[in-house]
Amino acid sequence: MDPVERAREILRQYPLCDSCLGRLFASMGYGVENAERGRAIKTLLHMRLVYDYRNGVDVAEDLKALGRVHAPTRRFLASNGISVEEARCYICGGLLKDVEKYAESVAKALAEIDFGTFQVGSVVPRDMLEREREIVAKFGIETGESIKHEINRRIGRAVGELLRRPASKERPDVVATVNIIDGTVKVARNPLLLLGRYLKLSRVVSQGRLVPGASRTIEEVLDPVRARFGGSALVLHAAGREDSDVRMLGNGRPAVVEIKEPSKYRGDLSGLATEWVILSPLKPGTRNDVREMKAKSKTSIKLYRAVALSDKPISAEDLAKLKALEGAVVVQRTPRRIKRLSPRARRRRMVYNIEAYQIADRVIEVFVRCQGGLYVKEFINGDGGRTQPSVAETLGASLEVVELDVLDVE
Ligand SMILES: [Zn+2]
Repeated sequence: MDPVERAREILRQYPLCDSCLGRLFASMGYGVENAERGRAIKTLLHMRLVYDYRNGVDVAEDLKALGRVHAPTRRFLASNGISVEEARCYICGGLLKDVEKYAESVAKALAEIDFGTFQVGSVVPRDMLEREREIVAKFGIETGESIKHEINRRIGRAVGELLRRPASKERPDVVATVNIIDGTVKVARNPLLLLGRYLKLSRVVSQGRLVPGASRTIEEVLDPVRARFGGSALVLHAAGREDSDVRMLGNGRPAVVEIKEPSKYRGDLSGLATEWVILSPLKPGTRNDVREMKAKSKTSIKLYRAVALSDKPISAEDLAKLKALEGAVVVQRTPRRIKRLSPRARRRRMVYNIEAYQIADRVIEVFVRCQGGLYVKEFINGDGGRTQPSVAETLGASLEVVELDVLDVE
């Protein structure tokens, strides 16, 4: 398709500014801004029409149509005694001429935030988008770019020059959205995701919501990390979970600390050491890291230590029987203490290794290396027969788990 002839057809019906005309042919040619492209097409059309006109071809109507949106053509017509009024662009009404003027308010709105990457978006009136769609549909244009895309790109470039860094295409720290009708700017701050591991040394700190028996949550303990980045909230995403009375020891559990609406995207990434929770040094991550971590935690191997109290003395011979549980697939109906899941659901998890020691006549210490997701307390106490096989059943005793620790998340 010859863009000049196509432009001639379009301009007969619609007056378009350089940008809006050039944008219909945006994918033809590379490294040229739409306004330049539109101007070039108009210049070529002007040359063709003036040539034809001088050779006696009747192109007066096309010249008048072009003259509405092209000053040299207006001057040519005026010199031939034909006067044509300049017309406003049918699509943008002239707005695209200096859309870069919004860059300064965007830069000002972003000045309060210490961010790394940014992106510019815009609110464009619906009727403007519809007028563009109308022309694209009517002339079967397949080479165009959307007006919104051009506005975002151009303001983004101008902001980039002010801030001395280019706008980002990938998920940016902040997105500034310009309303091109009233010039207002809204800034959305994407969450900051920080990867690390945590140890929980306390039996009264809960992961997630505050539960009976817990005095605080891990998220509350980690609040100083939120404060470092001036965020509105902190959310902890962890690879699996432990109950509030279970300690998380060893190398800790992989976790992602999410800081909502930070005012700083750079800052102190050192860990945090408190009497309840220890957080390792952090490094920036992505949503994908959170997804991968959660997916991995379903299959990762965990090592637990439990101390259990028996209703009767346990002998060394009794403990030796527990070796039979190595390699067993444990079938668990949802524990009674967990209400949110379907009570009839059955979970199957593998126990790989088990070591047990006598602490006192009726007190044993059991180490269980198993597949992630095993309900370990229930594997020890049997949960009234809802978990099979179990340590209690194998020992023929009634067991109460008095201490449980996670020693390793592999
Ligand atoms: Zn326009």
